Amino acid sequence: MTDSPIWRPFTQMKTAPHPPKVVKGEGIWLELADGRRIMDCISSWWVTIHGHAHPALAEALYKQAIELEQVIFAGFTHEPAEQLARKLLTHVPDSLKRVFFSDNGSTAVEVALKMAYQYWQNQGETKRSRFIGFAGGYHGDTIGAMSIGQSSSWWQTFQPLLFETDIVPFPATFDGDGQVEAKEAETLDKIKFLLCQERHAGIVIEPLVQGAAGMRICRPQFLQALEHLAHQFGVLLIYDEVMTGFGRTGELFACLKSATSPDILCLSKGLSGGCLPLAVTLATEAIYQSFYSDDATKAFYHGHSYTGNPLACATGVTSLALLEENPQLFQSMEALHRCYLERYLQGHPKLEQIRTCGTIAAMEVKTSETDGYFNAIAPLLKTHFLQAGFLLRPLGNTLYLMPPYCITSDELESIYQVIRRVLDTL
Ligand SMILES: *Cc1c(COP(=O)(O)O)cnc(C)c1O
Repeated sequence: MTDSPIWRPFTQMKTAPHPPKVVKGEGIWLELADGRRIMDCISSWWVTIHGHAHPALAEALYKQAIELEQVIFAGFTHEPAEQLARKLLTHVPDSLKRVFFSDNGSTAVEVALKMAYQYWQNQGETKRSRFIGFAGGYHGDTIGAMSIGQSSSWWQTFQPLLFETDIVPFPATFDGDGQVEAKEAETLDKIKFLLCQERHAGIVIEPLVQGAAGMRICRPQFLQALEHLAHQFGVLLIYDEVMTGFGRTGELFACLKSATSPDILCLSKGLSGGCLPLAVTLATEAIYQSFYSDDATKAFYHGHSYTGNPLACATGVTSLALLEENPQLFQSMEALHRCYLERYLQGHPKLEQIRTCGTIAAMEVKTSETDGYFNAIAPLLKTHFLQAGFLLRPLGNTLYLMPPYCITSDELESIYQVIRRVLDTL
């Protein structure tokens, strides 16, 4: 079909159409080689929080590139990493004190899992080796991250390679859900039963919103109850905020919005403002202290070639400054979503389970098929939207919006108008 040698991510190469070439990005717009302009309604896989080719990020990148582009991070440090680490700590719950750098969301989670596991090993609690995760959870595509995720049929193939975890139901909710308290109680009971066995190192959750599972939302109350259980049983609470971080939920972090404090917090995606791959895993002082020893074997032996890359850190510092200067950009989007949902989509016969969380809006498109991610409606909708000039990429039959924060109210309205138009033609 194409003479490109590139084997693309999450793509059945035989049936996928040849992808359009993007030649320029500006704000919410992507310009294609054939001259078309399309609106990026999903922040290019949830990373581009400030919009494309942001001048302040470009300038930070250039300034850093002509000073120091990269240096080994074992045995050396540099100002962008020091600044970013300090700045991040001013925005997260007080109990988080230490910052471990890596390169992407999957590595942030791998680091969290290894850190949590070794935390117990270092204290001689060798029985605490299992993790609790949530059905539908997505934490990345590396082996450890897949083990704690196991969300969909994507990785059935790899099942024999994954380590064993205990997966409990995620109490997903939506507008008008009458069952939410019962679902939460059931999950909490299951977790309590597991924790009684005293062999768990930690609980891993995407707080408030499960992303890849289809923007499934849980209540802050559930996280508060989960935190209570984790404390009661002395097990580590690990938040994967790779997607929810940096304003997505309407607050800078889901832990702030839910007034809960994890022991370990994973961040990536929006961390560099969507410019460069970068991740951090934040930990409490107690976790750090369990590694802090005269005994060399108690150190955390983990690192990547590009750990703490100065270019990525410099864009991270600037991105965070942009968020500090304009918090209303992500704080006000939920009200706009709600307004346009009501104006264009409420009660649409093709839709159900409409929900919003901060900058994210999601809904289920009714189909006769049940096979989640591989639902045929997804590529069909995607093609319709692309033809109309909008980048929307449904997860199975879940249609969602996750635009860059620089989108204007009128531009956001135009997405709802096109969704309405496309749904009416189905
Ligand atoms: C995207 C994502 C990851 C994986 O991040 P990558 O940078 O793609 O490796 C992990 N956790 C969550 C919640 C994510 O949304």
